[in-house]
Amino acid sequence: MTLDIRGLSKFYGTFQALNEIDLSVGDSEFVCLLGPSGCGKTTLLRVIAGLESFETGEMMLGGRDLATIGARDRGFGIVFQSYSLFPQMTAAQNIGYGLKLRQRPRAEISARVEELLALVRLEQFADRLPWQLSGGQQQRVAIARALAVQPALLLLDEPLSALDARVRAGLRTEIRQMQKRLGIPTIMVTHDQEEALTMADRVVCMSAGRIEQIGSPAEIYARPATRFVADFVGSSTLLSAARAAGFGVTPPPGQGDSLFALRPEDVLIREDAAAAGRVRSITFLGNVSRVEVDWQGETILAETHRLPGFGEGASVDLSLQPGAGVWVQP
Ligand code: ATP
Repeated sequence: MTLDIRGLSKFYGTFQALNEIDLSVGDSEFVCLLGPSGCGKTTLLRVIAGLESFETGEMMLGGRDLATIGARDRGFGIVFQSYSLFPQMTAAQNIGYGLKLRQRPRAEISARVEELLALVRLEQFADRLPWQLSGGQQQRVAIARALAVQPALLLLDEPLSALDARVRAGLRTEIRQMQKRLGIPTIMVTHDQEEALTMADRVVCMSAGRIEQIGSPAEIYARPATRFVADFVGSSTLLSAARAAGFGVTPPPGQGDSLFALRPEDVLIREDAAAAGRVRSITFLGNVSRVEVDWQGETILAETHRLPGFGEGASVDLSLQPGAGVWVQP
């Protein structure tokens, strides 16, 4: 089933939280809503869930108008950031709760709960109460609970953000593999670009209530459409057309006010006593070092393999990899 959102706008009083949102989510697709705090991603997820109203536009699921269906009857699975398990219920009872509400036979509930406990690899923990589980385990129970009713759509609101880095990375892979296996269309909110780039089929990059760009992780990274996306996803140096000309690149006809977005890995750096660049800082990142270069008053980010052979203050020359950079809207 496909979710189709057209021209959707939402206001809180006079404040416009969502501005003309157009978005389709296909069968089995994993879509991430990515953007900074306050850009409207949670609002969009809550509108889709039916927990918030909207003023204009339409939202259809498999041809059915969602505006006519209450949150409860949409049958969507929702997982929130904070552990929202029922504290007095065991893991198994939490997972079976939705089925119990729907008055499914007891044997069916216990079979389904067992299946889901296995899916999230918590067979040994069926009888634990939430406080007896780690954060990662609690979120796995929350995911199993959301999946119990075979939702038409799975909605995840920053489900990993309260977990430590290692657990988070493990759960990313787990959630993604589970979603692929089950083929449930999924929308996940995150402000973490790495999470979005590693998990999503498509990333929806949002800013100030608008969609800036929708694309595969590779498209969003390699061909950001706007200045915002170039800046927010990964690191970029943004050069004016006049500055870019110094590197032998010119904007497409009629787009003189475009900016040239350069990834640090596209900038080659070489020590040269006679050159115009000055190394301002070097940050060791393990496999590479990030080098900030003062280039005729402009700061340009470059990258070297491991540690460079020069230090801060060194004179360096910069050049671009063939095909480096993209022109973006200012
Ligand atoms: P975060 O990552 O911080 O959760 P977000 O992108 O999910 O941010 P939203 O929670 O969707 O952002 O909020 C979008 C905007 O709408 C914010 O400016 C917020 O202050 C505003 N907003 C959210 N809920 C309400 C509300 N109930 N009443 C008024 N304004 C609200």
